[in-house]
Amino acid sequence: MNEVILIVEDEQKLASLLHDYLQQANFAPHCLTSGLEVLPWVRQHRVDLILLDLMLPGRDGMDICKELRTFSNVPVIILTARVEEIDRILGLELGADDYICKPFSPREVVARVKAVLRRAIAAAPRPQEETVLHLDDPCYKATIGGRDLGLTAVEFKLLGYLAAHPGRIFSREQLMGCIYAEQRIVSDRTIDSHIKKLRKKIAEIAPHADLVHSVYGVGYKFEKK
Ligand code: CA
Repeated sequence: MNEVILIVEDEQKLASLLHDYLQQANFAPHCLTSGLEVLPWVRQHRVDLILLDLMLPGRDGMDICKELRTFSNVPVIILTARVEEIDRILGLELGADDYICKPFSPREVVARVKAVLRRAIAAAPRPQEETVLHLDDPCYKATIGGRDLGLTAVEFKLLGYLAAHPGRIFSREQLMGCIYAEQRIVSDRTIDSHIKKLRKKIAEIAPHADLVHSVYGVGYKFEKK
């Protein structure tokens, strides 16, 4: 679903220019021109980011931002023509995420919108499902949040062995014993290299999961943060 960007700007031409650029960048923009409409709209609609002009009819942008922060963490980028306002904006700690001085290029606005959204997503609490590990033994398939890790049989066995005993530290010898039934001569490095690939695959699917930990000088363990 496209992110909803609320544009609050009373200069019609500027608002429609921003609207077009954001739409082209695959956002779902919505324009409001009066300061009085903003908070009621935000309370009733999904909004992912607000571009907020300061000088607005009805209600001042700073005032809106202050009240907004009492009930919402939606990212806000302040648009202002008054460079002398910037110190005040920052000093007041309105809870805005960024500001852009007028005149600006619409391209710059789009780039800043993307950057602020990326930061907001990175900072958001992660849904629990994202790190739920599921091991399907018969088919050697491991998933995190429903996404297949694409493990080899050896990586799957290692992960399964570690995950069956969370928090317990296993030496490389113990892990070798679990993956190779017959007494094959394999070096410690073999385990390290399998674990490295396993961790890489986990990180690709769930960058924050961090399930397999190395314990310096001892071995490895499975642990959820
Ligand atoms: Ca204005």
